[in-house]
Amino acid sequence: MLIDSHAHLDMDDFDADRDQVIKRAVEGGVARIVTIGTDLASSRKAIEIAKKYKHIYAAVGYHPHNADEADLRDLEKLRGLASEPKVVAWGEIGLDFFRRHSSPEKQVRAFERQLDIASEQGLPLIIHDRDAHTDLLRILNSRKRQYRGVIHCFSGDYDLAMALIELGFCISFTGTVTYKNAVDTQAVAIRIPLERLLVETDCPYLTPVPLRGKRNEPLHVKHTAEKIAQLRQVDFEELARATSVNTIRLFNLPETL
Ligand SMILES: [Zn+2]
Repeated sequence: MLIDSHAHLDMDDFDADRDQVIKRAVEGGVARIVTIGTDLASSRKAIEIAKKYKHIYAAVGYHPHNADEADLRDLEKLRGLASEPKVVAWGEIGLDFFRRHSSPEKQVRAFERQLDIASEQGLPLIIHDRDAHTDLLRILNSRKRQYRGVIHCFSGDYDLAMALIELGFCISFTGTVTYKNAVDTQAVAIRIPLERLLVETDCPYLTPVPLRGKRNEPLHVKHTAEKIAQLRQVDFEELARATSVNTIRLFNLPETL
């Protein structure tokens, strides 16, 4: 069994064949999928999808790209959605100083506010960090607490990974770890403790090798897991089992469906 810990099944890319995509994943051994909201509308849609399929769970949150439009009222509406039965996490939230679709100030404000709400709601965090490692650590450390959550699509070095693990986080890898030039990310995937490692697609984006260039979908998480198993020199089954257990524990998913 494998779990895709981070998918965006609400996106238009799946409108034509969402049913088949989910069926393919389940039949291919991807037993659970967490589909992730990026704003109010997409969080609502994520919940709808999760309600429709027993294999799917949802996360609600405001992505840093959308932070400019995240007002307090929207965040309070998200808080309301967070108590829906299939919502298992708050995310994705975080900082993206690479694309800067929203201003860094607004990103920081939306991130801090959502850290508070998620902790009030008792939900684990799904965090996006692109070119914002220093600010991410500063904000997390300033709260002087332990966390429950995952740093998704990890792009930092081993020291950053270990600092985040010390704070309580898991580290998750996407298809980028399969790319030829991803030597630094691969080094992290080899060295971090297995009990903190998760795999994900971030589909429809970041399709792993050998399917790079095509639309990504939850079934393809296999290629990412295979690559990490190979890098760590463990059996695929062992890596699949460990990452599934880690994901079930993090998001408090039922052991059986
Ligand atoms: Zn994502």
